[in-house]
Amino acid sequence: MMSENWRKIPEIVRDVRSGAVSAVENVERALAVAECCKNYNIFVSITKERALQRATEIDQKVKAGVAVGELAGVPYVLKDNFLDFGAKTTASAKMLEGFVAPLQATAVKKLEAAGAICIGKSNLDAFAHGGSTENSFFGVTKNSKDTRRVAGGSSGGSAVAVALGVAPFALGTDTGGSIRQPAAFNGVIGVKPTFGSVSRFGVVAMASSTDTIGCFATNAFDARLVMNVMSGKDSWDSTTIDNDFMRHTSRKLRIGVILDFMTDDVDREVLTIVEKYVKKLDKKGYDVKTIKMSTLKYALPVYYVVVPAEVASNLARYDGIRYGHRARVAKTLPEIYGHSRDEGFMPENKRRVLIGNFVLSSGFFDAYYLKAQKVRTLIIEEYRKAFAKFDVLLCPTTPTPAFKIGEKTDDPVKMYLEDVMTVPPSLAGLPAVSVPAGRTKSGLDVGVQLIGARGSDAVILTLAEQMEDYGEQ
Ligand code: GLN
Repeated sequence: MMSENWRKIPEIVRDVRSGAVSAVENVERALAVAECCKNYNIFVSITKERALQRATEIDQKVKAGVAVGELAGVPYVLKDNFLDFGAKTTASAKMLEGFVAPLQATAVKKLEAAGAICIGKSNLDAFAHGGSTENSFFGVTKNSKDTRRVAGGSSGGSAVAVALGVAPFALGTDTGGSIRQPAAFNGVIGVKPTFGSVSRFGVVAMASSTDTIGCFATNAFDARLVMNVMSGKDSWDSTTIDNDFMRHTSRKLRIGVILDFMTDDVDREVLTIVEKYVKKLDKKGYDVKTIKMSTLKYALPVYYVVVPAEVASNLARYDGIRYGHRARVAKTLPEIYGHSRDEGFMPENKRRVLIGNFVLSSGFFDAYYLKAQKVRTLIIEEYRKAFAKFDVLLCPTTPTPAFKIGEKTDDPVKMYLEDVMTVPPSLAGLPAVSVPAGRTKSGLDVGVQLIGARGSDAVILTLAEQMEDYGEQ
């Protein structure tokens, strides 16, 4: 089912400010669509009372003539690995079932200050480990175009929420593709910003050297607006930088199509749709050329060494004592640790902890972790050279459209291979967006990925915006 589309965010806000449509009406509409879309399994929890209360406060301010922010009365959906005051935060894992957040993530605080209203927390692969939401303790989220297929992941719930018109935007996290891949699978725009653009304070950590916070929207302008509100330095996350997402670019962009990801390994229909998008760029007068990047093929193995290492460290805090699930039968300390972690983690979480501790262990550290970090440097270097010649690099977001539920669950490597095109920019901390490029004959969405140099988020989003205006997509 698909509800009538939300208008662009500035129009929604204009109506809230003028009183033409109240914030309460917007929230009620979002909740009604969410109710209709129940069978997609988008939400882990709905924050109805709080959302209506916040909407009422905004409407009262409007009536009293008090200024309201640039996202006033706009409902949104929050991935369930963000902490929000008093709201349950599970990261879709039994480990955090029933955990109530004692604080609010910086990104959420900023959105709230601008007047946006969270209506619920969306489903993900537990601890964001995965690319299909099949690793969620609360069950899979269904694809917006075909319920036999996956939503993608890990931010699957947020992507489907925007695709089905529950809300005009939603938040996600992207460590190796978790915003871009589900965006591609559901025909919405997904933004993974330059590393450090948005504070991670108050967000459940996965892999701290590549974790980023971004959003889903139906159009590039809305995405820029939301990113701009959230971004900026924060003393609670020392990796943060200032980044202007609204900056305009007027120069003729030089676009490099990455040939290494335009091969027979990619689904035929995906290739055709991406090639069509490239032709449109060419027709529109951009300077389009091809580029070969020979180190990118190592990105996937590097990612699946570095990320599990960081995952193993970040998950060490779930010991069954300080917070989270504690096993009932455990008596001794090692039993509390062991049983609580055994019961609280999903198989994929455990697999990553095992791999991570293995690659970090003495005797194997040099051969795996250190080697991977060295290759990572080569990848960063190759991007640096490419961005001397190009403003934007382009490739498909994923090698296939959304796959069937259960199709890849028996073989983790098959699942990991879906990330082959999204992990390279993550390792280098680069901004990358997935924009809808078209649909397959059977109606599945296909995304194209636009990658920029560090800090050039506004450039790739400008390009995405200009292409939206260009005839049929
Ligand atoms: N699918 C990738 C993984 O499983 C990306 C996950 C993410 O970005 N959180 O690691």
